[in-house]
Amino acid sequence: MTETASGADDERTLLADRLAAVRARVAAACAAAGRDPRSVRVLLATKTVDAARVRAALAADASAVEADPSLAPVLIGENRVQELVAKGPDLADLAPVTHLIGPLQSNKVNAALRWVSCVESVESIALARRLSERCTDRAVPLAVLVQVNVSGEPTKHGVPHEAATDLAIAVAALPGLRLAGFMTVGLRSPDPVAVGAGYAALAALRDDVVASGAPGTAQARGLSMGMSGDLEIAVRHGATLVRVGSAVFGARPPL
Ligand SMILES: *Cc1c(COP(=O)(O)O)cnc(C)c1O
Repeated sequence: MTETASGADDERTLLADRLAAVRARVAAACAAAGRDPRSVRVLLATKTVDAARVRAALAADASAVEADPSLAPVLIGENRVQELVAKGPDLADLAPVTHLIGPLQSNKVNAALRWVSCVESVESIALARRLSERCTDRAVPLAVLVQVNVSGEPTKHGVPHEAATDLAIAVAALPGLRLAGFMTVGLRSPDPVAVGAGYAALAALRDDVVASGAPGTAQARGLSMGMSGDLEIAVRHGATLVRVGSAVFGARPPL
């Protein structure tokens, strides 16, 4: 710790202000869409952010929730299993609800499952089966989201849109898992219409899967979509979880 006490206070105030600004954006977007602001949760995407700053953000959030009990606490999202495992012990006493939001290789499943209550990045039946095998003995099934590549950009993770319905129905039937909905990383574009089209497509896909009546799909209503730059568009199209990194933690170092 090289930081002085007042430096740490400044840091916490900054994080509290940015978090409040994000919540205000979500609330305004909900109001504009005629949605209940409590229908959208905020997840902090903490890639590259060290555990001390994540703790400061969680402390700032806890104060905000204490001041306004109508607010739901933020969640944490990690992209890389390595970071998840490294920070997990430093955050364990705060017991944050933590999701995996990045790719999961089958040899890292056990390590990841120790720290997360939801895997948002299920993009293949092979991964889903692997998770299912590890979760069949659980009292509470593991929540999973099917990640869909709505933009079709080749660099993006996620199952192609045209294969997503079949994958979701197959995942929903697996023991030990609970299909809670869908996740996407939206198109990176300054054109709000093009970005919104991808989010609308994810919402329509969700509606189709729920309407299918297939076993395990009735609860699959969640939509994890929208980030710092476009959360308003995602909320307009029905996001139930927005994943926010840079709007709270500032710009990340280049990878
Ligand atoms: C980094 C990341 C985010 C947050 O991105 P920001 O633009 O910093 O808000 C959300 N989702 C995923 C999957 C990410 O990797």
